[in-house]
Amino acid sequence: MAQKISAVKGMNDIAPPASAHWEWLEETLRTLMQQYGYRNLRTPIVEPTALFVRGLGEVTDIVEKEMYSFEDRLNGEQLTLRPENTAGVVRAVIESNMLYDGGKRLYYMGPMFRHERPQRGRYRQFHQFGAEALGFAGPDVDAELIVLACDLWAKLGLKGIALEINSLGQPSERQAHRQALIAHLETQAEVLDEDARRRLHSNPLRILDTKNPAMQAVVNAAPRLMDFLGEASLTHFNRLRSLLDAHGISYTINPRLVRGMDYYNLSVFEFVTTELGSQGTVCAGGRYDGLIEQVGGKAAPAVGWALGMERILELLKEQGLLPDAPAPDAYAIVPDAGSAAQVMPVLRALRQKGVKVQMHAGTTEGMGSMKSQFKKADASGARFALIFGTDELTQGQVALKPLRGPRTEEPAGQALLPLDAVGGWAAKLLAT
Ligand code: ATP
Ligand code: MG
Repeated sequence: MAQKISAVKGMNDIAPPASAHWEWLEETLRTLMQQYGYRNLRTPIVEPTALFVRGLGEVTDIVEKEMYSFEDRLNGEQLTLRPENTAGVVRAVIESNMLYDGGKRLYYMGPMFRHERPQRGRYRQFHQFGAEALGFAGPDVDAELIVLACDLWAKLGLKGIALEINSLGQPSERQAHRQALIAHLETQAEVLDEDARRRLHSNPLRILDTKNPAMQAVVNAAPRLMDFLGEASLTHFNRLRSLLDAHGISYTINPRLVRGMDYYNLSVFEFVTTELGSQGTVCAGGRYDGLIEQVGGKAAPAVGWALGMERILELLKEQGLLPDAPAPDAYAIVPDAGSAAQVMPVLRALRQKGVKVQMHAGTTEGMGSMKSQFKKADASGARFALIFGTDELTQGQVALKPLRGPRTEEPAGQALLPLDAVGGWAAKLLAT
């Protein structure tokens, strides 16, 4: 045998039965987005490296050390596997002038790539679902997006997801805070780690986001950005708060919530759980009024969030909320391979009516014993077995056998069904 080739570290296959959970979650999300008037945007997985460098900021974890970047061997272009999709959405919106007739509500889902240390809830290829509202100044859409996420938790039945919010104000306000922050951090230079020392003058706000336990004290004592906000920023924040209050949504204000990307301003928020270890942020976002202009478009406000699909699925699993594996309605048992030409069109007609039918497939040795076929039928989770015995077929019949918890209206045992009545049986089945 040839040498086996494994998947790239930190990049996983999503196979049955888990893939059904993904499809179910994706469908739940799509339905919810439609209820809020968000429409799907699909952008390429590969973008020019410059988009992320300019969009996310040079002094960010992602741009400094997490991007999969490469040179196109054919034309030398610098390209990157998208580490997130807000920048891509913004690029697409600018490129097709999508805001020409007003704001747009968009959503996306798909794989993202970051070279991180793989662990529970942290992968190198992971999947995000994101919602973006572009061309709206808020704070009503800020609230809409947060409420939407809360609706998702409710729809999924998820408990224990806490909302944290903060305001990053405007760049001028951050500038004043920055001076005070640097001064404070400089007095504590000996406890700063390497990352912090490097960022002290390039991006001190990001130091507040540190996960290093040794730096928690100095960071907790740091001057708060909230105290540097002007009236307009405070009004935006307070209006967002009262809109959340109007929905009965509880939250805590976390003055240290700064988010990983440079592009945020005003409202920022995270949904966090304590049930997933240290990878506890399941959904995060905020306002990014400067990004569209920064990426070369005409200035327009925008706000959005992204959730980690793997983390949501993990939390659903923790809380026992994942649905059962989808099962066929019926499993077709075919004792004689020679009956296939007669049986398969019947199964096809059933499927065209909407019945989920799985057919027992033969091998070169034959169809297998009835016992082994019934075993397969059982394992499939089907409610019924349709047994296409040769004798029954010659008489234009098929045997029908309930496999699972007989319902009161169904015969408990096996029954014979004329082939031309199978359609009627299917209609009844679908109505229950
Ligand atoms: P973290 O602080 O956990 O690294 P982040 O701030 O880098 O997260 P964002 O860029 O805001 O995350 O991405 C939004 C969401 O995507 C996160 O809240 C998380 O649920 C998910 N996510 C981010 N990175 C990963 C990853 N490497 N693997 C799995 N999910 C991820
Ligand atoms: Mg990260």
